[in-house]
This record gives sequence, C-alpha cells and structure tokens, in this order.
Amino acid sequence: MTGLYIHIPFCQQKCFYCDFLSLPSDHDQTGEYLKALLKEMDYYSQSMDAGQVFDTVFIGGGTPSLLKIEELEEIFQALFKKFKINPVAEITIECNPESLTFEKIVKLKDLGVNRFSLGVQSFDQGLLEKMGRTHNRERAVEAIADLKRAKVENFSLDFIYGLPQQSLEQWQESLRLVLKFKPNHLSLYNLMVSEGTVFAELAKQGRLELPSEEEQVQMLEMAVALLAAENYSHYEIANFAQPGFESKHNLIYWRNQQYLGLGVGAFSYWQGERRGNTLDLGEYIKTWTEDFQPVFSEIEKITPQQEETETIIMALRLQEGISYEKMKERFQIDFLVKYEKAIDWAISSGLAEEVEGQVFRLTEKGIPVSNQVMIKFLP
Ligand code: SF4
Repeated sequence: MTGLYIHIPFCQQKCFYCDFLSLPSDHDQTGEYLKALLKEMDYYSQSMDAGQVFDTVFIGGGTPSLLKIEELEEIFQALFKKFKINPVAEITIECNPESLTFEKIVKLKDLGVNRFSLGVQSFDQGLLEKMGRTHNRERAVEAIADLKRAKVENFSLDFIYGLPQQSLEQWQESLRLVLKFKPNHLSLYNLMVSEGTVFAELAKQGRLELPSEEEQVQMLEMAVALLAAENYSHYEIANFAQPGFESKHNLIYWRNQQYLGLGVGAFSYWQGERRGNTLDLGEYIKTWTEDFQPVFSEIEKITPQQEETETIIMALRLQEGISYEKMKERFQIDFLVKYEKAIDWAISSGLAEEVEGQVFRLTEKGIPVSNQVMIKFLP
C-alpha cells in the first residue's frame, strides 16, 4: 500500500494547544500556495515510476475545508490528472465544523472524497473556548448532521481529553453524545502541551490546571469500555473503528509503508528516505514558483536496522501487533529470538501479550504506558 498526503496549512486562527504547521488565514497566501502545490505535484508525477499507484489520499492540515470550492476543485483535478489513484482508494479530507457546509460536503463527494475527518475536539462549550477553537458545540452538531444529510458513508470525529479542568463526567457526557451520532471512526487524543503554544505559556505561568495523570488514564479507560460496548475496535492507541472502517491511510504510517507528502512541512517516507519539506511557507512558495526543485528541512536515508526498529515501534501502536511471520518475510529475522529480552520483560510486566503463538502486542494495561515498552526495543 502506498499513500499520498497533501498539506493545506491555513486555519481560521491558531488553537491554544496546536503545534502543527498551521497559519492563520488572515496571513492569506492561499492563491500562491496552491500554485506552488500544483508545481510540486507536477515535479513528482514526472519523476516517479510510471506504474506507481496510490492506494490512499489524505488532504490534511491546517484546515483544508477552509478552501473555497473552486480551490478544492483545482487540487482534485490535478490529483487525478497527475497521479494514478487506485479506483478503490480511500480519499480523506480533514475538516473543521466552522468551515464545513452542506454544499461543500456534496461537492467534495463529487470530487472523489469518500472519507471525512471532522475536528470536533469537545462537545463542551466551556472547553471549546478554553482550547481557542472557533466553532461552538451547536456548530459541531450541525456539521455532523450535514455529513449525515449528505449521506457520507465513512466519517471520523476527533476529540481531545485531558483538557484544562476537564472532569471525568464532562468526558463521559461528550462520549455519550458522540455515540448517538454513530461515527464510523473516532480518534481520541490525549492532550500534549507542546512548546510554543498558548497552553505551554499558561503552564509556565502556573495557569494551566490539567487533570492528573491517573485521571487521564481513567478517561482513556472509560472511552475504551464505552466504545467496546458499541462494537468499536480499539485498533490503534488513539483510534477506534467500527468493523472495516479503520483508517487505511494512517495504517500505512503505522505499518511503516511508503507515502509521499506534498505541501509545506509535509513528511514523506519515500524511496528509502524520510524527508521533511521546508517548514517555511515563503521558501516553499519560492521553491516551486522559481526554482522548481524540492527544498527539505530534513532528509535521512533509512538503514535496514532503522527500518526494522521503526516497524516494531509503530506496530506496537496497533491491536494487530507484530506478526512473527511478517517480521521474517520483511527483515529475515526471528523476532522471538532477536528481541527475547524485551519480549520477556513486557510479558512478565503484564504490558504485552502473545496471541496464538504468532503475534506480540500490547495489553490494555500496556497501552497508556506504551513508551515504556517501545524503548525496550531500541537497539
Ligand atoms: S484547526 Fe487544527 S491545525 Fe488548525 S490551529 Fe486548530 S488544531 Fe491546529
């Protein structure tokens, strides 16, 4: 499987927890950016193998749904003209409630989008305000209703837990409301306070009151229990899906398969290298409108040992875990022999388990402390 990622960096305003590459839309260079993006698409379509097919496409951001319909049209026309897209490809677009309209949903479906990922983050009005989100609870509910009215058959909702002063009751209430909408997929992220964000500044000033670590673990446990009762599988540390609705694009990342990232700051794992496009919007635009050559902020050739380690670390995030047979096929190793010490430690600590003598994976107890297991597999 091979994926294609396209980054749209603009957002209405910066959320207080966000450390993604996103720029407020009053810094509007959308027209120039899209011109540069189309040039980058040209460059890669001309330089890749004629037989290269993409099995998934993910338009992420930022807020791709902020783009006008004509701009979205331009991107999708270029996408299908320049690249070979598998006729049954999963094609996802990330949206935020404030910029998603019923008309846009219908148009995006016509353009080929078959999966919508909506950033709701919370149904609690007070928490939405604390996060600096631009939508309110009502708009989030309407946006979901619009997806249903447009007969979208595959949609995912994003939520964050561990928010300032969030109680277990508030979290439970959000989850109960979520389940009423029966999304096909849910991503539940534990809040991370990253440098350079408003939250990091508040934390420095002692003004960010977060739930304790124990409460945050309880929030995840509560979600796991509620969602399991509704037949969602907890197929990745932060992701839950109805049967058959796992994110194919994100599975490419977690299975350490190759993907090409286009747009400012986009990452790729392509032709044995990990590459990050320049993070500077001005430089990205200049690169593709004047020089017609990629500029990377980082580029690293991946050695076979690195590929093996990264495959293990990422597979530990997945409920499908690490298959001994697949490790033998891909790396010609006996996983049980090579990693005996780490495996024994994780199993005896109750953080991991062996399934039917064929697969090694984390237990529910191991999921919240996955990092403790992952570091044992580092060379
Ligand atoms: S909408 Fe998403 S990408 Fe944009 S600022 Fe908020 S969290 Fe960041």
